[in-house]
Amino acid sequence: MKNPTCIFCKIIAKEVPAQIIAETNDILVINDIAPKAPIHYLIIPKNHIADVKSLQDTDVELAGKMLLMAKQLSQVLPEPRAFKLVMNNGAAVGQSVFHIHCHFLAGKQMTDF
Ligand code: AMP
Repeated sequence: MKNPTCIFCKIIAKEVPAQIIAETNDILVINDIAPKAPIHYLIIPKNHIADVKSLQDTDVELAGKMLLMAKQLSQVLPEPRAFKLVMNNGAAVGQSVFHIHCHFLAGKQMTDF
């Protein structure tokens, strides 16, 4: 389901270029354009859902697939395969693109939460 004003929907539709890391029927993984860590991927479901608050019970499989994609991405990290997942929900905590996504961050110390 595409939202014509959404940058991630345009990337998913290949109307806007992005560096694609992985793609399945349901999920696209791209490099973040403004990385906060040496590895900074965005795990993006292809359905336009604004945020975690907008998930429905029927999205349970999709939500699980996002986590399993994180596991898959971690498999090529050097040991101990440490990574952080972040999902911003609401502008007040930093969400800037209102299409649900999970930040996958790795490659540096991130112990301050
Ligand atoms: P959030 O602030 O949690 O909504 O995260 C949105 C993320 O999308 C930010 O880290 C942006 O750097 C990233 N972003 C925005 N536009 C693009 C784009 N065209 N390609 C890749 N990443 C983007």
